[in-house]
Amino acid sequence: MIVITSNQTPEEQINEIIAVIEKEGLQAHLSKGSDRTVIGLVGSVNPKLAEHLRQMKGVENVVKISKSYKLASRDFHPDDTIIEVKGVKIGGEHLAIMGGPCAVESPEQIDLIAKLVKDAGAQILRGGAFKPRTGPYSFQGVGVEGLKMMAEAGERHGLLTITEVMTPEYVDVCAEYADILQVGTRNMQNFDLLRALGTCGRPVLLKRGFSATYDELLNAAEYILAGGNRDVMLCERGIRTFETYTRNTLDLSAIPVLQGLSHLPVISDPSHGTGRRELVEPMAKASVAAGANGLIIEMHNDPDNSMTGDGVQSLFPDQFSNLLKDLEKLAPLVGKKFSTQEAITVK
Ligand code: PEP
Ligand code: MN
Repeated sequence: MIVITSNQTPEEQINEIIAVIEKEGLQAHLSKGSDRTVIGLVGSVNPKLAEHLRQMKGVENVVKISKSYKLASRDFHPDDTIIEVKGVKIGGEHLAIMGGPCAVESPEQIDLIAKLVKDAGAQILRGGAFKPRTGPYSFQGVGVEGLKMMAEAGERHGLLTITEVMTPEYVDVCAEYADILQVGTRNMQNFDLLRALGTCGRPVLLKRGFSATYDELLNAAEYILAGGNRDVMLCERGIRTFETYTRNTLDLSAIPVLQGLSHLPVISDPSHGTGRRELVEPMAKASVAAGANGLIIEMHNDPDNSMTGDGVQSLFPDQFSNLLKDLEKLAPLVGKKFSTQEAITVK
């Protein structure tokens, strides 16, 4: 249920409403929008409480949200969520570009790629230190050392960093070294991990499970939001279909659908979404045309010798750089801001 107040409602009245909600043993989540303030109630609400709230001073309306996810829904938060990390904005009209290797391999590799990512005009360096591999004998990532290598490279080149966290035990160390934490497709419904991310103090990019519905993705996001972390991005990274030519089928409809259902930024991953280098550029552009708030793209200085199998979907540095130049031209046509020249102040 949500309690809607106007943005004229004084703070004392809002506090009184929250006190009434909390006295009933329920959680109250506040969302200040441009023209109204919404208080979301999580937990089962008895009709008497709903009626009492409706009568309170400052309350304009009390609305039941029938969806199973609440905090992730647009009903709760009508404006787009804009996540700000060290001066970089993600969401709304801002286009966030994350680029880098599938896996961090060595200090030299990640430093070289960080420079290429920065020179191309992106804001965020991606790279996995812990890799979720289908087979147990495949390269599993360089672990905590990789986190340190990436943090240093990010700092040296003035980039934010994003890395995947696979288990609740590693949330703290990943949060210590990376600016944004990524939940991989295989972990979208790892509820212990999602709960741990609710209190990690870092924004989270939540990838859609490769067989998950929109509803399941939004409920997974709800776990993180319900823990108190408001900074969640949703990521479409392709789903499994009967088609075998591509690694996955990038579901472009997910972008406008999720943006309609939710206020959270939607990021597209055309690399895992297609699994083929030649498709990354057209699907990256299509994603931006469909309204994506950002892209996460694999790029490697030497894709043929990368340590994971994802070299086949990794762009060469010049392809990445040319793509970003094109996105700079495309962005304003679809109401987005992006400049490859803008000096980003990563504070
Ligand atoms: C990745 O980003 O390298 C990755 C493993 O992604 P996904 O979880 O989407 O497969
Ligand atoms: Mn990968």
